[in-house]
Amino acid sequence: MPELPEAEIHRERLTEWLAGRRIIALAAPDPLIRRGQSEAALREAAEGATVEAVRRRGKFLRIRLRGARPDLMSHLGMTGKWVRRSGEEPDPPAVRACLRTSAARILFVDPRRLGRFAVCLPADEARLARLGPEPLGRGFTGARLAALLQASRRPVKALLMDQDRIAGIGNIQATESLWRAGVHPARRADALAPAEATRLHRAIRYTLRRTIREARDIELRYVSEGGPGREGVRARFAVYGQAGARCPRCRSGRIERIVVTGRSSFLCPRCQPSSAPGHRG
Ligand SMILES: [Zn+2]
Repeated sequence: MPELPEAEIHRERLTEWLAGRRIIALAAPDPLIRRGQSEAALREAAEGATVEAVRRRGKFLRIRLRGARPDLMSHLGMTGKWVRRSGEEPDPPAVRACLRTSAARILFVDPRRLGRFAVCLPADEARLARLGPEPLGRGFTGARLAALLQASRRPVKALLMDQDRIAGIGNIQATESLWRAGVHPARRADALAPAEATRLHRAIRYTLRRTIREARDIELRYVSEGGPGREGVRARFAVYGQAGARCPRCRSGRIERIVVTGRSSFLCPRCQPSSAPGHRG
């Protein structure tokens, strides 16, 4: 399932494919992807417009058009992705929308149809305004994370995945970051020691940057897709989806799967004790 790294790679690719180019034609026949907007409204907003820039906020992508045009917005949902096809190259299955430029067809593919491609409306602006800080942005300091942790009694993993607290972190990035920081995912956020908050801050940024770097070079595939290549993707993660494997850090603990606020979580019981250091036994 796409999180900040996949959205960021989409921002890079869509920028390369679209920035400075004119959208000759738009098709978005799937009403689920448009979330109630008409295809005509999308076409009116986009057709004939030149793309100014593609931006990202959390897991949301925003295509800015030149002139007095509204932005277009996309969310990848569970299985959404944007791909480029040119000339006689056949379309992949499950195409839900198409932006045609003079050079190529930029296609939104989404087998499960939980993604989104629509005009950015005032309600969307309000949603974006509520998002928490960008974890790779300058504003996301160790002190900022420590303050967020101190203000929450929820499990630390639930806090990390709350888009209104920190934007863009999902199940995989939260799981990996907590392992890297040596913090058990079910611990209460406000029970973390300052040193743990500092470690977690570093771990989040490291994990996000590393996932972005590694995913740049491969075709984007999500863990939930299955099929060929799935193992290669899984191997990118130290603990996510690795129940039963040896912990790559301590090399003695076995990765366990637990459920935290309804989501699968993976941890090393040796590296991530369930109570704060110094409070055990
Ligand atoms: Zn371990």
